[in-house]
Amino acid sequence: MKVLVIGGGAREHALCRSLSQDPAVTELHCAPGNAGIAQVATVHPVDQLDGAQVTALAGRLGAELVVVGPEAPLVAGVADAVRAAGIPVFGPSAEAALLEGSKAFAKDVMAGAGVPTARSYVCTTAAEAAEALDAFGPPYVVKDDGLAAGKGVVVTSDRAEALAHAGACERVVIEEYLDGPEVSLFAITDGTTVLPLQPAQDFKRALDGDQGPNTGGMGAYSPLPWAPEGLVEDVLATVLQPTVDELRRRGTPFSGLLYAGLALTSRGTRVIEFNARFGDPETQVVLARLRTPLAGVLHASATGTLDQLEPLRWDEGAAVTVVIAAEGYPAAPRTGDPIEGLAEAESADGTAYVLHAGTKADGEGRVLSAGGRVLSVTATGGDLAEARERAYRSVGRISLAGAQHRGDIALKAAQ
Ligand code: AMP
Repeated sequence: MKVLVIGGGAREHALCRSLSQDPAVTELHCAPGNAGIAQVATVHPVDQLDGAQVTALAGRLGAELVVVGPEAPLVAGVADAVRAAGIPVFGPSAEAALLEGSKAFAKDVMAGAGVPTARSYVCTTAAEAAEALDAFGPPYVVKDDGLAAGKGVVVTSDRAEALAHAGACERVVIEEYLDGPEVSLFAITDGTTVLPLQPAQDFKRALDGDQGPNTGGMGAYSPLPWAPEGLVEDVLATVLQPTVDELRRRGTPFSGLLYAGLALTSRGTRVIEFNARFGDPETQVVLARLRTPLAGVLHASATGTLDQLEPLRWDEGAAVTVVIAAEGYPAAPRTGDPIEGLAEAESADGTAYVLHAGTKADGEGRVLSAGGRVLSVTATGGDLAEARERAYRSVGRISLAGAQHRGDIALKAAQ
């Protein structure tokens, strides 16, 4: 199978790494890719938001499967363009991707499907926002309605800050605060059959102890030894399957990756958000544990044949990923600095490896930082403690001026 992956972050590097290890994959391409992806796939400079460009590239390569990684191309209709050309594509239509692209749409679908989520109001004026904030009380949760790369949400007990965020967005969703630990559960679907993956937890705040600003994600681990028994089956029955069924009923079937961000609250499991693609950095740890070759699974989603797939096989062990971010991330990341120690950070036995997020080759053999999140250092082990130790050992071998990373990824869960 010739496969083309769209995107250029650590999620796409993780996807490409798994695809490159799948014996069914004869050619692997990625656009636009990054310096790390270029080591396992042929990279192509393409505007990933341009459906015509992506489709033309897929046609030229004879791609038999196109995998769209990030949300922006999905919302821009790139999967629709590829599908219209008759090429199997992993990723939802623009209409279905609104599940991520509009928080208000997601709330509407959840209401129709009877899926448990936070009570909420959609507000477009300061007066409406003020009323909604006072209806729920602190801590306040204010979400930009549109795509914001995981950074459009403000959770604060400061009413003025909450109001200011509402004022800075055109349309916001204001909702009740959900207590309890968060879980990311991914499912692969073809619009009818839903195949849940293993749960993971990510770390959204920039600093240790969940302090500092929200980010795209600073690390993740899987499995979750503390999660209640039957969590996956329960979420499949109460969240994932009803949502997929509701979207199909509305005439906007969702195929691709359905990501449920969940809060396990004192009053039961609630959906915090849906995403329409693999989560970054959770993908790095979930794929690290997946034993079933990836291409066949994604192809079955793209061709509506998931019901014929054998049950997925998983590594019994654990995986941890630690994100190395640039100085100034998330507000104003510094880019263009050389990264050293990349080869030293890879273990000979393949248990620790470096996935590239924002990097580029300088043409002289050096790799430079080129984004806020620069690397996602991933390791596997018999348990979380071992995976953690390996990941942090590799992190310690990498040098990038001013770089930051959290020291407490998977710490509590490993104890
Ligand atoms: P989102 O972009 O919706 O995933 O929100 C980003 C982060 O904000 C989530 O991972 C949570 O940590 C936090 N968050 C979002 N909604 C709520 C809520 N209703 N209650 C508490 N925290 C929330």
